[in-house]
Formats: sequence, C-alpha cells, structure tokens
Amino acid sequence: MPLVRYRKVVILGYRSVGKTSLAHQFVEGEFVGGYDPTVENTYSKIVTLGKDEFHLHLVDTAGQDEYSILPYSFIIGVHGYVLVYSITSLHSFQVIGSLYQKLHEGHGKTRLPVVLVGNKADLSLNREVQAIEGKKLAESWGATFMESSARENQLTQGIFTKVIQEIARVENSYGQE
Ligand code: GDP
Repeated sequence: MPLVRYRKVVILGYRSVGKTSLAHQFVEGEFVGGYDPTVENTYSKIVTLGKDEFHLHLVDTAGQDEYSILPYSFIIGVHGYVLVYSITSLHSFQVIGSLYQKLHEGHGKTRLPVVLVGNKADLSLNREVQAIEGKKLAESWGATFMESSARENQLTQGIFTKVIQEIARVENSYGQE
C-alpha cells in the first residue's frame, strides 16, 4: 500500500483576493461567483504526485491585514503556505510582506515552504501589481511565484501541487524526512 503523507497548508492573504475561489476551484473544479466572506473553512483532497500520495488538508482563512495577529493554529503543525494577493490591488500585495514576516517570526526558520500567488490575472486591465514585482518578492524568500485566475482555472491545480513540492524541497534542505 502506498504511504499517504499528511500535509496541512494554510491559505493567507487580504480579504477578497480569491482565497476561497482558489481552494474551491482546486477541490471542486468550478468557479463560484459572488462574495461570501469566509470565516474559516477546511478542505481535504488526495493529491498524487508521481508515485507519492498526499492527503492535502487546506485551511482557507477569513483574510488578514497588516495588523492581524496570526493564531497558533496557523503556525503549529502547518507544513506550508499559499500567500495570495490580487494583481488588481497594490494594498493586498503590501499586506503579503507583513504576513510573511509574521510567519517567519512564528516559525523561526530561514526558509518556509511558500507559494506566492498573484490572483485575478484575468483582470489585467485593472492591474496594479506587475508580475515582476511578485516574482522578485518570492525570489527574495527563495519561494515560488505564479499568477492565476480562479475564474478561468489558470494554474489553480499547479498552485497546490507546487506547495507540496515546496514542502518536500524545504524539508530536504533541512535534512528531515
Ligand atoms: P477571499 O475573501 O480571498 O476568499 O476571496 P473570494 O474567493 O471570496 O473572492 C472574492 C471576489 O473575487 C468574489 O466576488 C470572486 O468571485 C472574485 N474572484 C475570485 N477570484 C477571481 C479571479 O481569479 N478572477 C476574477 N475576475 N474574480 C475573482
């Protein structure tokens, strides 16, 4: 029987950037329009990557800003993060910097398994954040960057397989399992 590894991933970012839409698109394969501010939701999905199977437990959060205090449950027992901003909101991008700082302090590690996502890429006419800015920020953390559209299902699968790969990459670089 293949070993199924458990991975807990938390999705963080400013409100209304598309966190719920991305999680929903990944798990259910559809885009649900309309805005329903999430309190906190969890999703589970088995993800197969090559020969390995992962039980991905996704935590979709209510959204944070630069003043948010992250609860312990977002730190302890969490393997990786998807940090989401909207390419149509410079403010949502600025919030990401302070969230990463808080995660870094919480974990006390030099490298965290993170995928940085610039969502709403379909709304390029309203773009406030250039892709190169997202790319540079992710590079400064040694993390992965991608733009996506939960509406058009661009790369939404890739986000969650990527975070599983990032977790493996960081674990290996620390010489753990
Ligand atoms: P959350 O608060 O970060 O979880 O954001 P939601 O997933 O609830 O999305 C907020 C709003 O943005 C909703 O009206 C969604 O329909 C919309 N939305 C989310 N992702 C996209 C996207 O990729 N493109 C467009 N055009 N709208 C999106």
